[in-house]
Amino acid sequence: MPKKKSTNKNQQVKGIRLLQDPLLSKGTSYSDEERDALGLRGLLPPKILSQEIQLTKLDENYGKLEDDLDKYVYLSSLQDRNETLFYRFIMENLVETMPIIYTPTVGRACQSYRRIFRRSRGLYISIKDKGKIAEVLQNWPRENVSVIVVTDGERILGLGDLGSDGMGIPIGKLALYTACAGIPPGECLPIMLDVGTEDKVRRNDPLYLGTPEPRTRGKEYDEFVDEFMEAVSKTFPDALIQFEDFGNRNASRFLQKYQNDYRMFNDDIQGTAAVTLAGLLTACSIQDKKLSEQKILFFGAGTAGLGIGNLIVKHLVNDGLDENDAKKHCWFFDSKGLIVSGREGLNAEKSIYAHQQSHIDTFMEAINVLKPTAIVGVAGQPDVFDKPVLNAMADINDQPIVFALSNPTSQSECTAEEAFLHTNGSVLFASGSPFPDVEWNGKTHKISQGNNAYIFPGIGLGICVSGASKVTDDMFLKAAESLSDAVTEKDISQGRLYPPLKNIRNVSVAIASAVGKCALEQRLSSNGIENFSKEKISSILYKPIYKSML
Ligand code: NAD
Repeated sequence: MPKKKSTNKNQQVKGIRLLQDPLLSKGTSYSDEERDALGLRGLLPPKILSQEIQLTKLDENYGKLEDDLDKYVYLSSLQDRNETLFYRFIMENLVETMPIIYTPTVGRACQSYRRIFRRSRGLYISIKDKGKIAEVLQNWPRENVSVIVVTDGERILGLGDLGSDGMGIPIGKLALYTACAGIPPGECLPIMLDVGTEDKVRRNDPLYLGTPEPRTRGKEYDEFVDEFMEAVSKTFPDALIQFEDFGNRNASRFLQKYQNDYRMFNDDIQGTAAVTLAGLLTACSIQDKKLSEQKILFFGAGTAGLGIGNLIVKHLVNDGLDENDAKKHCWFFDSKGLIVSGREGLNAEKSIYAHQQSHIDTFMEAINVLKPTAIVGVAGQPDVFDKPVLNAMADINDQPIVFALSNPTSQSECTAEEAFLHTNGSVLFASGSPFPDVEWNGKTHKISQGNNAYIFPGIGLGICVSGASKVTDDMFLKAAESLSDAVTEKDISQGRLYPPLKNIRNVSVAIASAVGKCALEQRLSSNGIENFSKEKISSILYKPIYKSML
């Protein structure tokens, strides 16, 4: 990205070191002149292969693999050898490779990370490094870091505490920053904060690569994360820091603690909220309604659900509603029933959605009493949007909005097919996991996946081009609106609430442009508005093409 000085502390890499540097390596593609000038003569077979020929070989080998985890391992080892070729391949095959390098396959990869581990990538900062985190960060070989994704591995996807095996998540998310938003791979830094794991099986496995101890918690853990935030923002002052897959008890706590002082955000909360809001806005435009005409009932009131509710409220307030009235558009049902005023034991985050209503302890009854226009599943409980629930939604609404967001597929509240079947095809449906197209009344409906990858790469790009000093909720609102605006009439006629994934780079550029302008309006950027046109942003994106090294 613009702004910075050198990209590598090791200038003028030559010979075998050049071939072994995945950021610089072109494999067998070096020209004769480069081979002479860079000390490569003899270190490579004589034939020079173009990147296109390399891609053909890659296609053939990848195409022979049947198991998704084998594909993940294959692509990881390519990334470790030749990042330019890796990114060209995944960018040209994004729809096929995104579920491999990210969810759902990355979840399988993390579960067996210690077994498939070949070569270290990113930084591991262990609780034993407390007091010297700044020194560890200095070991990173590059000065220019634009985006950091950090996790402590406590809540990896829906899979729980994987400890240091969770490193696959920051690596996968950063690959999407490059593939979907053109952030140069050399400016991406995955970080694992290794504070132990509660998983005894992992701790006792001789192959486990993290600290084989129970998690450090409480004051010592908080001091460790505080030290990390201070040190990382001093060492890499331009970097955006994305928090990812921290445990529930820490995710929103850290967001509140750091968001005003650091350039950081939490994708599980804010990215999820923006992608879901975008889907709701598209549904509204299909129905020719405003968001203020919707009553949204959430099944689940955790990190994702409350984050979505809070962003919906912000959108409604920006649209002119009083905050208290805006909150009344969101209702939450959790493991203890409907959240209502007077319910005991509600925490502060849930209390703001405790509206006047008598206690209701089944979701079906909540639907019959509240008559929602939309239901959003975010509890990780499969099959709760069953036939009676979907029938009721279709009886209440001409076009019921049903978002079954729980991941992975096995936890989804209903399948796309069930949603169509039990609403007689009237549903506006989105899911957390990918579902195949649904044939209904002789028409093929493309199923919309509310994938956070529509949002976070564009947010990151917007922060990079604006240099904004923090990430605000308004930026996520703008991102949601831009994403919804990117849905065309043709997309809608195919049943989509989100644009096709293959258009994601254009979506990221549009989001980045909106985020940059928002940063300017909020006086968080001193860059001129001309830097935020889509054309200007598109012109600086990373392209996975070999460059001459002479
Ligand atoms: P969480 O653990 O923070 O929250 C889960 C909530 O579900 C809690 O409020 C809990 O009380 C409620 N719940 C659990 N069992 C219940 C039951 N039997 N009946 C009613 N409520 C119940 O989890 P989270 O981070 O909010 O994630 C929830 C789900 O959303 C996960 O499956 C996750 O994969 C999914 N998610 C999807 C996306 C996306 O599609 N873009 C993004 C983030 C999260």
